Amino acid sequence: MFSESDIRAAIAEKKAKRETFGRWEYLRLLHEWRGWPRGTLLADGVVVAGYPKIGRIQTLAGILSQFHAPFWVEEKIDGYNVRIFRVGDALYAATRGGLICPFTTDRLGDWIDPAVFSVHPDWILCGEVTGPETPYVEGASPLVPQGVGFFLFDIARQGTEGFFPAEERRALAETFGLPAAPSYGRIEPKESASLREIVLRLDAEGREGVVLKEDSPRNLRAKYVTGSAELADIASMAQRYLDVPPEYFTERVLRLALFLEEMKRSDRQEWNRRLGEAFLSSLQERIAAARQGRCVGTFCCRFHARENALRLLDSLGQIRGHEGETRLISLQEEGGYWVLRFQKLYRSTTGFLRNALGGSLR
Ligand code: ATP
Repeated sequence: MFSESDIRAAIAEKKAKRETFGRWEYLRLLHEWRGWPRGTLLADGVVVAGYPKIGRIQTLAGILSQFHAPFWVEEKIDGYNVRIFRVGDALYAATRGGLICPFTTDRLGDWIDPAVFSVHPDWILCGEVTGPETPYVEGASPLVPQGVGFFLFDIARQGTEGFFPAEERRALAETFGLPAAPSYGRIEPKESASLREIVLRLDAEGREGVVLKEDSPRNLRAKYVTGSAELADIASMAQRYLDVPPEYFTERVLRLALFLEEMKRSDRQEWNRRLGEAFLSSLQERIAAARQGRCVGTFCCRFHARENALRLLDSLGQIRGHEGETRLISLQEEGGYWVLRFQKLYRSTTGFLRNALGGSLR
C-alpha cells in the first residue's frame, strides 16, 4: 500500500515511528499522514486506522444544534481505548496512540473468543478496558469493581475507516458473545428530556457519561460527561496535582458548573462540599505521603505470561508526559497469574511538597 521510500519519508518528517512487539514489526503514526489518523498502525498488508476523536458536547441543549437525526445513546466507559485485531495467527491490542499494549494483548483472550477472528480475520474490535487492575488509569468504571474488563463499542475493518452501524454491531456482539458497552436506546434530538433522565441516573451511580452516535450516514458522535465523573477525575488527578497541566482542572471545574446549571440541581451545597473534598482530601493525602517520602500511584496487574509483564514495564519506562517515573515493586506468581506491582512517581508534586514541608523560602 505504501512504498518503503514513502515510509522512510514519513519517519524523517517525524510523522511515523517504527515499533516492534515480539517479532512483529510495524509503523505507528504519530500524526495524521496521507489521510490516516494519528494512532494508525501499518505493516505489510495491514492498516489498522487510528480511533477518531469524539467531540465533546458541553450542554445537553447543544444536542439540538448538532444532531439532525436520531442517535444511539451508549454508556461512556471510564478506562482506556484499545483496538484488538489479528495479524497472521496472532491477536494484538493497540492503545489510542498505536502502541501494542502488552497487558491488554496478554489478557484479551479472557474477554474475547478468538473464534470471532477465524470467521472475520479483518475485523478490528474497538472498546474500553477498565477496572482497578489496569496499568494506565487509576480511576475505573463502577461496572468493573474488581480486576479488569473489556467493553466493545465499535467494530471496524482493517484497511478502511469508519465503523459498522450500531445496530449491526450490537447484533454481532451478541452472536459472538462479545461484552458490549451498555446501550440506552435510540433517541430523537428533540427528546432531550429522556436523555437528561439517563444522564442523571448515570451521574447518581458515579458513571462517566454517554457517547451519542447519530443513526445516519455521517455517523456524527459526541460525548457528554456527568458531574460525578468530573469530580472523580479531579479527585484522582489532584493526587498528582503539580504533575498535571493546570487546564486539566480548570476545564473540569467549568464543565461541572455548566452541568449543575443545566441540571438545575437543588443540592448545590452538597456539590460545593464535594468539589472542595475532591481537591482538598486528595491534597491532604499527598501532604501525608510527602511527609513519609514520595507521592506515588500504585498499580497492580495480572498477566498470563511473565514476558508480557516485563514488556509492559519496559514500555512504561518510555512513556513521558503525565506519567511519572516507574518503579517495580514485585513480579511474582499468585493464583495462576504473574502479578506485577509497580509505582509511578509524581515528581513535581513530591518535590514541591517536600520543599514546603522542609521549610524552603520561595
Ligand atoms: P478524544 O480524542 O476522543 O477527545 P479523549 O482522550 O479526550 O478522546 P475521552 O474524553 O475519554 O478521551 O473520550 C473519548 C473516548 O471515550 C474514546 O476514545 C473511547 O476510548 C472512550 N469511550 C468509552 N465508551 C465509549 C463508547 N461507548 N463509544 C465510544 N467511545 C467510548
